[in-house]
Amino acid sequence: GDGRDRYALFDPAMYADILREAEERAELERALALEEFVVHYQPIVDLPTSRLIGVEALVRWEHPVRGMLGPGAFIPLAESTGLIVPLGRWVLRQACEQLAAWRTEFDTASGIRVNVNLSARQFQHEGLVEEVAGILRETGVDPHQIVLEITESLLMQDTESTIDTLGRLKALGVRLAIDDFGTGYSSLSYLKRFPVDILKIDRSFVDDIDTVDGDATLAEAVVQLGRALQLQTVAEGIETAEQWSTLQDLGCEYGQGYLFAKPGAASEISSILGGARV
Ligand code: C2E
Ligand code: CA
Ligand code: CA
Ligand code: CA
Repeated sequence: GDGRDRYALFDPAMYADILREAEERAELERALALEEFVVHYQPIVDLPTSRLIGVEALVRWEHPVRGMLGPGAFIPLAESTGLIVPLGRWVLRQACEQLAAWRTEFDTASGIRVNVNLSARQFQHEGLVEEVAGILRETGVDPHQIVLEITESLLMQDTESTIDTLGRLKALGVRLAIDDFGTGYSSLSYLKRFPVDILKIDRSFVDDIDTVDGDATLAEAVVQLGRALQLQTVAEGIETAEQWSTLQDLGCEYGQGYLFAKPGAASEISSILGGARV
């Protein structure tokens, strides 16, 4: 009857879902307010020498109950709730403050870059460019040492406003990298329209090098695309010496991966800047 149908609107399972999402959102907001997040840094190296040329900032949540959580456990929720905007801003500020501290302590820090991930949601946020400008100004870092990583899918969305935002970011002096490159479907002519400086070759292409029968065809194609566009190329997820040497043969300049170093606390980068090898 009628009563039953109306009752079904309050399906307890659905209600529990909504409640859980609201609780998770509130927990994430609380964590931001309490600064329970921490930024780890993964070395990026020059492939021929394995010398440190930069680091990528990667956020973690030091959860009071669940322990250290990787981004996979909370970035999707941060994206869907929009909390990625204040979280991403916090990560950028943290990374810039860390770079400023490294520069005070180590002469070698003037030669490195710090990469920071920018989500599509942040990119579409109205105040992004002004916020980045404010953080650069307040922390006093050299904008040329900051690289903002954006995904290929973002570039495939829109066009005029994307090119405008990228241009305004570039005008601040920062560099731009395309993350997870090769996983989208951007064409060479399409990519030429965007003012990017660096391509980060997705881990899946690096993986192909020593799986199956050692097929480096796709990795080679992506490296060549980067060279054709006169962009720096950084290979992600290098885990084996074979991948390392093949990527060098293909002409890839830089790399990042567990073979060199896993993401770690800022103090681990300090040791390298102070003279230790990666
Ligand atoms: P990403 O930007 O592609 O970052 C690289 C990921 O690959 C990191 O995972 C890193 O730990 C992992 N990785 C590096 N070398 C290797 C390797 O040799 N083998 C394997 N299997 N993995 C490797 P992580 O730290 O878990 O981050 C995952 C993703 O979360 C990132 O992927 C990025 O999309 C997102 N993320 C992390 N921090 C932030 C942030 O501050 N803001 C935004 N918007 N996204 C972030
Ligand atoms: Ca990245
Ligand atoms: Ca990536
Ligand atoms: Ca592999």
